Amino acid sequence: MGYKVPFVNYSLQYKKIKKRIDKTMADVLNRGDLILRKDTEEFEKKLADFIGVKYAVGLNSGTDALFFSLLACGIKKGDEVITVSHTFVASIATIVQAGGKPILVDVGNDYVMDTGKLEKVIGPKTKFIIPVHLNGRMVDMEKVMAIAKKYNLIVIEDAAQSIGAKYKMKKLGWRVGGSIGLTGCFSFYPAKILGCFGDGGAITTNNQDIAQKVRLLRDHGQETKTNIVCYGWNSRLDNLQAAVLNVKLAYLSDWIKRRREIAKIYSHMLTGIKEIKLPPEIDSDPNYFDVFQNYVICAERRNELYNYLKENGVETLIKDRVANHCQPGLNLSRFKLPVSEHLANEVISLPMYPELTNQQVGYVVKCIVGFYRHRRV
Ligand SMILES: *Cc1c(COP(=O)(O)O)cnc(C)c1O
Repeated sequence: MGYKVPFVNYSLQYKKIKKRIDKTMADVLNRGDLILRKDTEEFEKKLADFIGVKYAVGLNSGTDALFFSLLACGIKKGDEVITVSHTFVASIATIVQAGGKPILVDVGNDYVMDTGKLEKVIGPKTKFIIPVHLNGRMVDMEKVMAIAKKYNLIVIEDAAQSIGAKYKMKKLGWRVGGSIGLTGCFSFYPAKILGCFGDGGAITTNNQDIAQKVRLLRDHGQETKTNIVCYGWNSRLDNLQAAVLNVKLAYLSDWIKRRREIAKIYSHMLTGIKEIKLPPEIDSDPNYFDVFQNYVICAERRNELYNYLKENGVETLIKDRVANHCQPGLNLSRFKLPVSEHLANEVISLPMYPELTNQQVGYVVKCIVGFYRHRRV
């Protein structure tokens, strides 16, 4: 079905920058530079600069960025790692894959980690905190870092949904997500704010030793062609994808600007519908610079709204119909997280990408208004 407003539109973005992308890809293919070549190195430098750290290491996914971060930071079997349930499952799964034990806390009204809940779950086995900057909004890193310092915990930022998001630290001023913890983890999955044409990811860090360990883990421990120093995996960012990301990185600031503009239009036009709850309005808190990977609202009669929008040509996404800790296959049912469980029944993501026109955004709003007016008794 052709939607009036599809949830994502990969081909539209491609068409807009086709000339540069095609030229770059042809250039890479003509050079035959496919694995760990100069485009990957160039991207790692550019990404490190953009985030404001010394090192970035390209990987084949955001999942491996999290997994390798835990390994490189020295996780041991049975170590407890605190994160949230309300996130993409990779944030939790990688803890288990690395031999750790996930400890899940609830989220606040802004859908990200409620840092007020952290201290209560810290015990003698706690070693890590993974704050997840969900939907393009950062966790209160002032609080996370203070607690990490107090209890001597390592912080790994899951920044897969928040490239370019910022948080104002009291002493350090504005800091970009992924530059505050020991590592930051990024994903370049196509639907992410900076997406490639397949899977991709990276870690960022200021720690030379961690960067080197991750470089070894992504390439079977091969320090040189003849020297293998540890067991590793095959998880390199493809050079062709890195070349694509180099082109796209030049547009990132404009794309973020446009996402924020769209968020502003949504929140302006949707204010006053009492059946829905909007995400934090832009600049309503001067310590946050949100980049709106997703525009997520809480809606009464959410499933009906989803169907109504679909019938009217608006494609939306319900990513969290069941909270991760309530998924029977994950063995996490010991956690009771009322806000996360409630969100599973209410959240719905509206179309959000820079190529959306104001008319399309207006149409989405019109349909939502129509739904509640229509059904109102
Ligand atoms: C996308 C995502 C990941 C995983 O990234 P992949 O590249 O898909 O492996 C991890 N955490 C969060 C919050 C994500 O949104």
